[in-house]
Amino acid sequence: MAPVLNIQPLESWLGKLNGPLIISGPCSAESEEQVLKTAHGLSKIPNIKIFRAGIWKPRTRPGMFEGMGEKALPWLKKVKEETGLLTAVEVANPSHIEAALKNNIDILWIGARTVVNPFSLQELATTLEGVDIPVMVKNPVNPDLNLWLGAVERFMLAGITKIAAVHRGFYFFDKTPYRNAPMWEIPIELKRRVPNLPMICDPSHICGERALLLDIAQKALDLEMDGLMIESHFDPDHALTDPQQQLTPEDLKILIDSLVIRFEKGSNEFENRLEELRSEIDKIDAELLHILSRRMSLVEEIGNYKVDHNITILQLKRWSNIVSDRLKTGINVGLSRDFLVKLLENVHTESIRKQTEIYMKKPKGK
Ligand code: PEP
Ligand code: MN
Repeated sequence: MAPVLNIQPLESWLGKLNGPLIISGPCSAESEEQVLKTAHGLSKIPNIKIFRAGIWKPRTRPGMFEGMGEKALPWLKKVKEETGLLTAVEVANPSHIEAALKNNIDILWIGARTVVNPFSLQELATTLEGVDIPVMVKNPVNPDLNLWLGAVERFMLAGITKIAAVHRGFYFFDKTPYRNAPMWEIPIELKRRVPNLPMICDPSHICGERALLLDIAQKALDLEMDGLMIESHFDPDHALTDPQQQLTPEDLKILIDSLVIRFEKGSNEFENRLEELRSEIDKIDAELLHILSRRMSLVEEIGNYKVDHNITILQLKRWSNIVSDRLKTGINVGLSRDFLVKLLENVHTESIRKQTEIYMKKPKGK
């Protein structure tokens, strides 16, 4: 059974928020000068509350820049003293946690490559038992909702109540315009299962390049995500990691100012009209389900009839006729081809499953 999760709202660890939470800072802390210059630029943007910087960097291949390590922690202390921003670092093992706590880091985050490993997660969670520090849990690299939820649960079970999920996109084998495919349905489903879990979107690691950031950030807000984590660097082109996706603080301000903040709740008149439209949808959905159930009963009847006459389940010619006919009709009434193909495939798979059940029960026909 899933444990009951005690989660505090973002404002309980951050104070009053006017609008979405914005977290920013370099992919990696590179030098004291880079950290402080970037932080001072960011501190001029009112929505920014948290300064992020990677200190221990998980790199795909050895020999690449792996972060400045503990040496960078005093730089973050200075950021806090000079700008008032809270500081956050990625931790991947207990000694990272120990060093971060010793240097008064305010918030920890767990990176996508660590979230794939339940042993590492448990070790981190156990190290945090009895420590009151907020933890942000990125999604695992692979699109596995339960792994993400399981990671959140491990920290909750260790007593962490200030917790947030970070959506940074997923590895996808096919080519997409993004570095990591957003697969929005996964964070939405996590939010559906754990509605009080704050969800922060990380457009930088989804996009992989600056030009795509605004659209993804806007979409995240339109999907009611609670905040954004966007990488920034005072000189992004010369960054030691992720140079194509980081923004200067000035460009980040332009991006934030271009975001349209929509509201979850509207006027009474708006809410009433919305309610009317929604109840219409509820009725249509009920009709749709009844129609699908009638279709499945017919499928069953046909299955019984075919098995009694020793005819095979799958009759390809009939199926390809159905697909071309339904595509034509569906496209004519304004439905997209992609949607129709997926819908027909699902209906067909379920029909075959139902008929297979009948054939298993009556293997020899009449
Ligand atoms: C990062 O935030 O710099 C990072 C390494 O991200 P992720 O764990 O999402 O790859
Ligand atoms: Mn990065």
